[in-house]
Amino acid sequence: MLRAVDLHKRFGAIEVLKGVSLEVGRGEVIAIIGPSGSGKSTFLRCLIHLETVQRGCIEVEGRTLVSTDTGGECRYVADAEIRTICGAMGMVFQHFNLFPHLTVLENLIEAPMTVKGLRREDVVPKAEALLAKVGLADKRDAYPSRLSGGQKQRVAIARALAMEPDILLFDEPTSALDPELTGEVLRTMRELADEHMTMIVVTHEMAFAREVASRVIFMDGGLVVEARPARELFASPEHPRTRAFLENML
Ligand code: ATP
Ligand code: MG
Repeated sequence: MLRAVDLHKRFGAIEVLKGVSLEVGRGEVIAIIGPSGSGKSTFLRCLIHLETVQRGCIEVEGRTLVSTDTGGECRYVADAEIRTICGAMGMVFQHFNLFPHLTVLENLIEAPMTVKGLRREDVVPKAEALLAKVGLADKRDAYPSRLSGGQKQRVAIARALAMEPDILLFDEPTSALDPELTGEVLRTMRELADEHMTMIVVTHEMAFAREVASRVIFMDGGLVVEARPARELFASPEHPRTRAFLENML
């Protein structure tokens, strides 16, 4: 479903990803954990082409986004193809990134209409169904400024789903929320996992990672230090750095 091999990313002199690889199968939920600055967000942003890599290979649904030949030359496919490939992915950010001047419903139908060219009358029923799914049918005509953080994030999830992605990427979706609002967002994500949505979730919610993720990736210093089935990693972390990180977290 998604395959990233040996991704390298530098910002100027700083090498942020030093050869990160990950394979994700259909319906898998991958949790990425690790200390601040370890490259978790950068990795997600490279997968969905918000950043470019300098080396490595990314394939989504068997389609190559970027590849690197044996001579070390790194090549992205043509722009139109990039758009198609990245259209298979949706992303949910820590700070929601809703359009403040649009209502909740308009936030959901904007991209299906402008990017996919669908007609309003075709996308509205679907958007309403998604709002019902995340428990926000009654907020259809509200502006984002009138919503709680948890509600905003559930709208952001519904908006990502409105594009019918095959894979959803989450970058610390609950980190900006008060603890009492975290639960409602995690519940929505659990429901998606139960429906076999393929998800890659950067998170500090260790209970979520342990209970919902099939595999947990521990990143540190731009590398994957440990990648194991969730229960195994939490029960018996192999690497001293993983152990130290988990001891700090729990
Ligand atoms: P956090 O848990 O704090 O979100 P992270 O694991 O997501 O951390 P990244 O945001 O990927 O870490 O950042 C990794 C490193 O890359 C950091 O040292 C950061 O300062 C640097 N970095 C990220 N984006 C940029 C950028 N656009 N320009 C320069 N440096 C960047
Ligand atoms: Mg981050």
